[in-house]
Amino acid sequence: MRVRFLGGAREIGRSAILVSEGGTRILLDMGVILEPVPGFPAHVRPRDLSAVVITHAHLDHSGASPILYTSWKVPLYATKVTLSLMKLLLLDFIKVSGPLLPFEVIEVENLMECAEPVNFGEPIDIGNLTVTLYSSGHIPGAAQVLVESKRTGKRLLYTGDLNTLPTRLVGPADTQVPIPDALIIESTYANENHPDRMMEEERFVEAVREVVERGGIALIPSLAVGRAQEILCILTAHHFEYDVVLDGMARQASAIIRSYTEFVRNPDLLKRALSYAHWVSSWRDRREVVRQRPLAIVSSAGMLKGGPVLYYLKHVVNDPKSSIFLVSYQIPGTPGDVLLRTGRVFVEGKEVRVKAEVERFDFSAHAGADQLMKFVRKVASKDRTKILPVHGEGDNCPLFASRLQSEGFKALAPQPLDEVRV
Ligand SMILES: [Zn+2]
Repeated sequence: MRVRFLGGAREIGRSAILVSEGGTRILLDMGVILEPVPGFPAHVRPRDLSAVVITHAHLDHSGASPILYTSWKVPLYATKVTLSLMKLLLLDFIKVSGPLLPFEVIEVENLMECAEPVNFGEPIDIGNLTVTLYSSGHIPGAAQVLVESKRTGKRLLYTGDLNTLPTRLVGPADTQVPIPDALIIESTYANENHPDRMMEEERFVEAVREVVERGGIALIPSLAVGRAQEILCILTAHHFEYDVVLDGMARQASAIIRSYTEFVRNPDLLKRALSYAHWVSSWRDRREVVRQRPLAIVSSAGMLKGGPVLYYLKHVVNDPKSSIFLVSYQIPGTPGDVLLRTGRVFVEGKEVRVKAEVERFDFSAHAGADQLMKFVRKVASKDRTKILPVHGEGDNCPLFASRLQSEGFKALAPQPLDEVRV
């Protein structure tokens, strides 16, 4: 088996890995870099591909996939909920960044026609290779991909985005996988650990309560897919007793996730959380919401780049009783990142010094440094497994590789376009 890194090596974004065995070629993920302008993986000819496998719907793993569907039909495999969420995110991507993209709605439609839903643990036959998906614990439907060669029996495991601890929304990553000969593993947090989840939940719910009890609005900008639903589940699990509003694309994502409860850790909690929230969709309702304070608002976009969250932002920035609680990672350069670093945001084109309380909470859906090491110890073998850390900013991939080496594992952080034999 040969493995080529078309994107996502020593960077976060445009994840794309080409795996070849004889004449069979499959592409694992086809993502984009979102900031400052969309960036794409290295070129691959669709006619050379036997199949595409998408680990999960986030655009850094799926956002470039329509490029492959301008004039060719390649089967695309992913879980059911990933396919539905992908469609939602890709169409929104076209709406927001259309002129910067080399595809349009028709390519997304072509892609969806070639899409084949697969279940976890169900082997798919693709020429000389067999592919099996296992849960990666990151968002509902997110998968690790096991690729096995029918010719040599060699195995490759690609983690996609990995979370080894349970969250309110999703159970932990599956570690019951056969020992791989190569392990491609994400490195997002190879350099840091997350705070204790339960303590972070309590700190968060307490902070939201405080804002509401002093008569303010707790604005919680959230990524539409995964994080918004996680936040609603956290509030419900902690018996949050005040009004909660759900707005933005997070509503459509919630409706999709609610209809695939087999990918959710606690369907009953999700159901209660989603029916507790008031779903807001019209401007009349939004105006009513800001008059109706105190309450908590969960709305996309999570990094303040667009969506109805900007309308609510305008109504809280100057109010010291209100708050902006950032619960997602903020990509450097996004308005959310600027707010955290400088205490300033742009509102209707004008830069404003924020008087509302601003705070960050860590509800990451990625494994922290120690959890990544634990995962490797569980699934990999020191004699047999070649470990290839990817999906990390700065020096995180080589840093993770050297930490693995110091424990006796064979590890190497690939460079962009490197080819590795398995
Ligand atoms: Zn992701």
